[in-house]
Amino acid sequence: MRFIDSHTHIYLRGIQDVEAMSAAGVEGVVICSYFPVKPTGPATLIDLHRWLTDDEPKRLRSCGVKAAIAVGIHPRCIPPIGVADVLQDISTIFESGKASALGEVGLETASSEEVEILIKQMAIADRYNVPMIFHTPRQNKNYVFDKLLKLLQDQKIDVDKVIIDHLTVELVPKAREIGANAGITVQPGKMTEKDVVSIVSSYGTEGILVNSDLSNVISDPLAVPKVAREMIEAGINKADVERVTYLNAKNIFKF
Ligand SMILES: [Zn+2]
Repeated sequence: MRFIDSHTHIYLRGIQDVEAMSAAGVEGVVICSYFPVKPTGPATLIDLHRWLTDDEPKRLRSCGVKAAIAVGIHPRCIPPIGVADVLQDISTIFESGKASALGEVGLETASSEEVEILIKQMAIADRYNVPMIFHTPRQNKNYVFDKLLKLLQDQKIDVDKVIIDHLTVELVPKAREIGANAGITVQPGKMTEKDVVSIVSSYGTEGILVNSDLSNVISDPLAVPKVAREMIEAGINKADVERVTYLNAKNIFKF
């Protein structure tokens, strides 16, 4: 089988992990922008974007893995100065075609600063008609999720290409109700392979995307292939497995 991991920070992992993913059938990964330390200024994120768009695809290609790049300001990565410079950088990158999505963006505490910067980023993504990947936090997830839904409605965002990520079993139907895609992160402390089986059994496969959120903290490069194995063992048919572990992501992102 072949897979796409729809949310990773693979640039924070060694090449051995990329090789292992390739060997397990991971054909492509979505690489989301996130810097693990709060930036002191705009250059941190501008250089991060350059790393992701210019270097990371080559590194992955050397292992036979394709990359779709998402750029943006994560709510935990808002620099204290120079936000306008980063927003300009994001526009320039979309203009050049080097990135194909906005992400990962979203809300952590839903402060007025986070909301203001998110609205500006949504407007840029809307202008370039690119998919948007929204983070939801571990803390106050339901509250922040509701805030996010209201923002999407207020800003009249076309939700077809919106992925609301790190969702719980309870939030998946709420995202699907408004037509947004539901990202399921399979990771210790988040969702399990069995959770994916129960989500697909209850809500079907449309608009469901599985990912590892691979980063420098505990996360599994083989999360997506392992979900597929669990689904097959649970008796879910291969076409449905392929939709949530490959096709739905392939249809949204440019690979
Ligand atoms: Zn992430």
